Amino acid sequence: MLSQALVPDPVSLGAHGAQPGGAAAASSAAGSDLAAAGDALASLRNARILMVDDDPVLIEVIQATLEEHGYANVVATTQPDESIELIGRHRPDVLLLDMVMPGIDGLTLLADLRSQALSQQMPVIVLTASSDPAIKLRALELGAADFLAKPVDPSELVLRLRNTLAAKAYRDRLAYYDPITGLPNRTMFMDRLDWACKQAARYALRGVLLHVDLDRFTQVNEALGPSAGDALLKQVGERLAQSIRASDAVARIGPTPWIPSLSRLGGDEFTILFPQVELADDAAVVAHRVLDALQGAPFATGEREVYVTASIGAAIFPDDGADADTTLKNAAAALREAKAEGQSLCKFYSKEFNARSLRRLTIETDLRRALERGELWLAYQPKVRAADAQVCGAEALLRWQHPEHGFVAPNEFIPLAEASGLIVPIGEWLVREACRQINAWREAGLTPVPVAINVSALQFRDAEFVPRLGAELARSGVPAHMLCVELTETVILDQSARTTEVLAQLRALGLKLSIDDFGAGYTSLSYLKNLPFCELKIDKSFIDDIETDGGSVAIVAALIALAQSLGLSVVAEGVEKQVQHALLRAKGCDQCQGYLFSKPLPAEEFTRYLLQSRVQAA
Ligand code: C2E
Ligand code: CA
Ligand code: CA
Repeated sequence: MLSQALVPDPVSLGAHGAQPGGAAAASSAAGSDLAAAGDALASLRNARILMVDDDPVLIEVIQATLEEHGYANVVATTQPDESIELIGRHRPDVLLLDMVMPGIDGLTLLADLRSQALSQQMPVIVLTASSDPAIKLRALELGAADFLAKPVDPSELVLRLRNTLAAKAYRDRLAYYDPITGLPNRTMFMDRLDWACKQAARYALRGVLLHVDLDRFTQVNEALGPSAGDALLKQVGERLAQSIRASDAVARIGPTPWIPSLSRLGGDEFTILFPQVELADDAAVVAHRVLDALQGAPFATGEREVYVTASIGAAIFPDDGADADTTLKNAAAALREAKAEGQSLCKFYSKEFNARSLRRLTIETDLRRALERGELWLAYQPKVRAADAQVCGAEALLRWQHPEHGFVAPNEFIPLAEASGLIVPIGEWLVREACRQINAWREAGLTPVPVAINVSALQFRDAEFVPRLGAELARSGVPAHMLCVELTETVILDQSARTTEVLAQLRALGLKLSIDDFGAGYTSLSYLKNLPFCELKIDKSFIDDIETDGGSVAIVAALIALAQSLGLSVVAEGVEKQVQHALLRAKGCDQCQGYLFSKPLPAEEFTRYLLQSRVQAA
């Protein structure tokens, strides 16, 4: 019987999943590893305790006593034959073992446990009513750590348990931690990696291993001498721990974050293990942060300062290797490749991933400079009246001409701009640029058409968004009705008071509001009724098959009628064919936008298109 089911799940096992030295290292992830020694005694209560006794009443009493004293991880069984399996599953820090049980006696079980690798070193406290010194002697021979006489005295139990755990914590410290850096050593790391690989296989997760190796450390060590070399390694360990801690990328996953853990593999080699990542990209970001952190400032060794760089090899499990050995081997192979290419590089084992992550990283870095370098510009796509195809508006679409990669599609860089927060300054620039263009048209004596801009969720949530927009309108003198703000459903999805308030503020400024890509997402018709929109843009996916699919026609016709009855103007997006235009016109759609009329154009070409359209109308 299992009196308490402690089935491991990927979240609750978290950073202190089964690993050697569980008690001492219970909270030992990235940063806290360094403090693990000091915390060892304090964290004894995290110890996992397994009790094997055929007496369910005694189990209950002991469990209650232990819980009362703060020990929460207690698993117990009355079935001795379950104990090996339970040890494999829970990796207890200590075993409370009854000596006299029906079926099997405690001594045989103890001998059995000592023959298994996993339980060879496990501290065992023997529970025995017997005063037979021969049994005690035999138990001692089998490495029993302590005895507890039945009937069990609760306060004695707690004291003996504490002593045994403290001794184990001290032993673990020697066996599983590196004395120079205070980090987990190779033994501990391999066990963690093994555990992470098994968890990944069992729960269909994905993890990443980074193998960090300092560049030219041997020369540094020779130049400085070994004790300065050790001091340097210690500082490197600390800086690595810091840069991992700063990586919110990974910590945001789930309620119990799967914090990456840092170990010293030996020599000048370290490892950073991410037991679970959402995207391997997240680990790549951390890898580059680690490289930057090392390079960013010198290390002080005595009177001298030295700069240290590192190379990183990365492997994804289970993709690149299902078990610990293969994963480490692949990371080491990637590391060799990184070293061969130069200093301060990170290479992934998979070629395809390297290419993708490199592009993402360069794009992210370059985007920061794109604004200053004037690589961003706005294309304007005409919006035309459905009835006569006369231009009645424009949508401004962001364009980026990268010096090496050429044209980068907005669908590629806008998500990155959002993830890095760059979308906010880019959005500011965009409003300025659109206003500048509207004024340029006015100065050229041309009556401009309203310009629509796209605003992402992040920009919308920025407290400064509305005030800045208002300030720019005032500064440029552009009338507010000349700007239209397109928002997708994801922006307005949470119908919170804040959303409603920002929309009202935009309306109060005099801007038009448009719902973009309507029907593509989590459409709720209640938006239409409750929020102050002027325009609805029907998503291209409905227009695509409108001439072949009767269902799409019916939906589009109903949408047009509904939106118009609520006072909204309707725009069809992605109109590419004459028949689509004809159908939309017949159903009373107000405006169309799409390649049939024009692709998004540079401002000058748009001006020509606009003039032409006006000449034709006249
Ligand atoms: P969107 O707002 O739905 O913009 C319309 C997209 O459809 C544009 O792609 C446009 O070039 C394309 N398009 C227009 N007519 C047709 C057509 O007839 N056929 C086809 N196949 N496509 C057509 P683009 O410029 O690549 O922009 C993609 C998305 O990137 C935009 O979708 C928008 O969500 C986002 N985006 C573009 N500029 C900005 C911006 O300044 N800020 C923000 N936050 N997002 C932007
Ligand atoms: Ca749009
Ligand atoms: Ca759209």
